[in-house]
Amino acid sequence: MSNKVITRIAPSPTGLFHIGTARTALFNYLYAMKHGGKFILRVEDTDKERSKKEYEEDILNGLKWLGLEWDEFYRQSERGEIYKKYLQQLLSENKAYLDGNAVRFRNPNKKVSFKDIIRGDIEFDTADVGDFVIAKDLDTPLYHFAVVVDDNEMGVTHVIRGEDHISNTPRHVLLYEAFGFALPQYAHLPLILAPDKSKLSKRHGAVSVTDYKEQGYLPEAIVNFIAFIGWNPGDNREIMSLSELVESFSLEKAQKGGAIFNTERLDWYNKEYIRKKATAELGEMLVKYLPEKWAEVAEQRKDYWYKIAELEKERITKLSDIKEGIGYFFETPDYDKKLLLWKKAENLDESKTHLEKIVAFLNSLNSEDFTSRDIKEAIWNYAEEQGRGNVLWPLRVALTGLEKSPDPFLVAGILGKEETISRINNAIKKI
Ligand code: GLU
Repeated sequence: MSNKVITRIAPSPTGLFHIGTARTALFNYLYAMKHGGKFILRVEDTDKERSKKEYEEDILNGLKWLGLEWDEFYRQSERGEIYKKYLQQLLSENKAYLDGNAVRFRNPNKKVSFKDIIRGDIEFDTADVGDFVIAKDLDTPLYHFAVVVDDNEMGVTHVIRGEDHISNTPRHVLLYEAFGFALPQYAHLPLILAPDKSKLSKRHGAVSVTDYKEQGYLPEAIVNFIAFIGWNPGDNREIMSLSELVESFSLEKAQKGGAIFNTERLDWYNKEYIRKKATAELGEMLVKYLPEKWAEVAEQRKDYWYKIAELEKERITKLSDIKEGIGYFFETPDYDKKLLLWKKAENLDESKTHLEKIVAFLNSLNSEDFTSRDIKEAIWNYAEEQGRGNVLWPLRVALTGLEKSPDPFLVAGILGKEETISRINNAIKKI
């Protein structure tokens, strides 16, 4: 036997890929990769009624999306013969017996202990669990049994899972002993808690990785964020890629206490990773979050769209935020003319005069030099002289129809000379 580290994630496909499962998978992945080992994905679908193919797909896609590629794949529903063989072994050795239909394990009712890498020595009196059921019949093994047979068959050396499984472990230890298998090492991770310290659940918001994906969280941000739930590298690094996490990972640094799931923290990570993206790549990702009509424009005018993406990159927290407040890049803004009145100005005629002046300045620029810098240079002195609000407020409204928007010079630079002047002329006509 080699000493190669082998870990596994063993999800039951009875629901969408949960963020807690993602974290357990990540820790298993990191530990295996750190030690040059192997990471196994085992779908625990012995519960035929509750297991669904669509959930299995969701879990597999989610793991791939996060970059947690597995080295081996198994599905418990395809391993019936193996479980049957081991069930028969226990029955023939009188370590299990049939009770009506069910197969029960003959519990020696003794104290067992195991060492947990995170929590130290744990001892249990197994008398409390009695002769527990290990299979409904020879073709229908239950979790406690299948997990032990599989972890042993697959050579799993480290069982890293949520601490809700601690109370199951004594049963597993009894089965290991009954078979004469060597125990794996255990590491039970602290539960993920909501900010109010209760168990994280749907009422706290999204809990499935797919939900986060759909809202436009980036996989790098989720991986980085969940790595830090219950673990940190022991220095002040916060932004870490998957390979940096592999490099620094150690189970010994995992904390014992419940770990808080803090959405603001996730948002912070997401913003950081969005800003790191190259604009063209980000632009392509963002198109999917646009209403169809805008998406068509974005596809046809890539340069234009990438400029918008570059501008919005600083603002958005998640990709789905893109559709808020950018309508004016795709549709001529519609607004009440009263909006063109700067709060300190006397009347709209003032706005009109300033807008006419701006058109004259902009007409002196040629279309090629219509960058936000050129535009600013052309207008700035006049704006300083007349009062910035007086000049720039109506300009902003003319271009965007909004009270709040990015810098109007940036907006004009993206819209281009023709469109910018046409919008200002529209505003003048309104007055
Ligand atoms: N199928 C179990 C679950 O989803 C796996 C538990 C384990 O890792 O042993 O909770």
